[in-house]
Amino acid sequence: MSKFRVEIDKNACQGFGACVELCSQFFQLSDVDGKSSIKGANKIMKENQVVAETLELDELECIREAAEACPFNAIHIVNLETNEKLI
Ligand code: SF4
Repeated sequence: MSKFRVEIDKNACQGFGACVELCSQFFQLSDVDGKSSIKGANKIMKENQVVAETLELDELECIREAAEACPFNAIHIVNLETNEKLI
């Protein structure tokens, strides 16, 4: 079972890519909307637009650092074992 869930709130994300600079193995800027995208993530759609992306994984690696650096608080992390919202 995965230990963490990472989510990008696409409405909150303003692009620029601090997360991509810090953690390019997980984050990239989307060609479609110019916002951050998590590689391999599930896309949550609403009215034909991606409103969020989620990915479950065992290790956060650089993701927590990227989430803490996001100036718009668009990246969230939940510990799935404790249900604690880390950021
Ligand atoms: S740092 Fe935050 S606002 Fe900037 S691209 Fe990444 S998720 Fe979006």
